[in-house]
Amino acid sequence: MAQNAPVILRLVASSIKVAARAGKIIRDVMLRGELGIVEKGKNDLQTEADRSAQRCIVASLSQQFPAITIIGEEEPSNCEVPSDWVVTDCDNDILQLACPKELQDISDEEIVVWVDPLDGTSEYTQGLLDHVTVLIGVAVGDRPVAGVIHQPYYNYKNGGEDTGRTLWGIVGVGVGGFEPQEAPKGKRYITTTRSHSNDVVQAALDALQPDEIVRVGGAGHKVMLLMEGKVHAYVFASPGCKRWDTCAPEAILVAMGGQLTDIHGNLYPYNKNTPHQNSKGVLATGRNQDHEWYLRNLPDAIRQHLA
Ligand code: AMP
Ligand code: MG
Ligand code: MG
Repeated sequence: MAQNAPVILRLVASSIKVAARAGKIIRDVMLRGELGIVEKGKNDLQTEADRSAQRCIVASLSQQFPAITIIGEEEPSNCEVPSDWVVTDCDNDILQLACPKELQDISDEEIVVWVDPLDGTSEYTQGLLDHVTVLIGVAVGDRPVAGVIHQPYYNYKNGGEDTGRTLWGIVGVGVGGFEPQEAPKGKRYITTTRSHSNDVVQAALDALQPDEIVRVGGAGHKVMLLMEGKVHAYVFASPGCKRWDTCAPEAILVAMGGQLTDIHGNLYPYNKNTPHQNSKGVLATGRNQDHEWYLRNLPDAIRQHLA
């Protein structure tokens, strides 16, 4: 690895390989068919794939970057990690990128990595496999500055070598692994949860009068729909999402000109002491969309509900 590249680039370069390894672990658990489902809370599942993928990611990144703070969704475990889960290689193309001035001299101690080892667990257990993503988000201070989303089952129905893909973004640098697109003009397609809806979530959608509601699992998957111009907005008027759900997606979205805020229009902080819960909901919009329009058109009653 080019040891002299800025740590942000080295971290993204490593995370791209680590996320793909975690994706392989997720596929292997499903192939074995013993999901080991644990109920963490109401409507909140964890499987062996969530646990193992997180161990792979945390072991790999902490070995290479011992001074960064890593916050993962799942409880940490002290178990030994199989040696072939510890990834040490990296994506060399990333190391060659020009790093913006403000990210050049960041030290490892200033970085917080938010890890959702498997986003879309309900869908994973229900066999909706392409909703699943692995999320590795990099924050400096309060802001998400880089992110990696790996989709382990992308293209899986065709089988073969090209199953899975990895998307990345670095704010001020750009994005890769996908083609950023704008959603069609003159329509309003909104994506939202498929497994964590309630009356307030639905009332917010109704007020925005979408032409279509696209209900899919995972914050990662929904933000990918935004990035690829399949929908105009992601609206979730619920406190259910956590920082590890939004850090990587927000970074990539911002790197391509989109936005992610709470439903009041405020940015979530991502420093290591911040609460984990995105308690004021999520509103994300793609490139060249009118984020303010959505803020203005959400009813006061919903704003008050998530005040
Ligand atoms: P969804 O859009 O339902 O897939 O949710 C996006 C992310 O937020 C997933 O990681 C979910 O597990 C999490 N999430 C959303 N709502 C809830 C909830 N009510 N309880 C627990 N987790 C939730
Ligand atoms: Mg998640
Ligand atoms: Mg998860």
